[in-house]
Amino acid sequence: ENTSGDSEKVTYKVGTEPTFPPFDTTDEEQNIVGLDMDLIKAIGEDQGFEVTFENLTFDGLVPALKAGNIDIIAAGMNKDDPERQKQVDFSDAYYESKLMVAVTEDNNTIKSVDDLTPDMKVAAQTGTTGATKTQELADEGKIAEAVILDGLDTAMMQLLNGDVQAVINDKPVTEAYMKKQPDKIKMVGEPLNAENYGFAVQKGNTELLEKINAGLANIKEDGTFDKLVDEWFNK
Ligand code: GLN
Repeated sequence: ENTSGDSEKVTYKVGTEPTFPPFDTTDEEQNIVGLDMDLIKAIGEDQGFEVTFENLTFDGLVPALKAGNIDIIAAGMNKDDPERQKQVDFSDAYYESKLMVAVTEDNNTIKSVDDLTPDMKVAAQTGTTGATKTQELADEGKIAEAVILDGLDTAMMQLLNGDVQAVINDKPVTEAYMKKQPDKIKMVGEPLNAENYGFAVQKGNTELLEKINAGLANIKEDGTFDKLVDEWFNK
């Protein structure tokens, strides 16, 4: 948190992990961009604060927030997770999501999570709900190995290379990867959970949490929220 000279506006540091399109990604110049970034910027405009973005691994976000290195997490983070709720405070939900199993387009044997077998490797991103689910499958002996990676871009690459047989990840994000590489990846079976994304602040930071919730309600009310969702999902 910082007050900058001229504008007298407070600037908050927003942490994210940018291999999570369309929520958290990078542009050609490696700037952090995405729906989460535009939403928190719009919330800031409404509530009179500015933001800068920090690139962290997903499992580094909660520790960075707790240490005060960042003020807000905007990273498609599931707010319904009780372990996370013990460590941070979440805003109102802004997006409903779910986990899905993804396989290569030409895979005709894996039609759902139940078709995974003890000789298979499954990838997911470190610290995520998908990683927890994947680790569970490994611990139960249903798969050979949970391949836990820093970036989802790497997970998708390993899937395409045949290094892993499946990836467990959030549906809208896997869909974004599918769009980038048409006819290579598909999702199979039923959703493995239901999630609600929220922005996170340090436990007890009610002042900032109230600003985020008020701004979120206002940008929903005035149509900015829907406009941004539409923009980022139709790129
Ligand atoms: N929604 C998932 C979670 O909360 C994944 C988020 C992400 O990879 N950015 O763990």
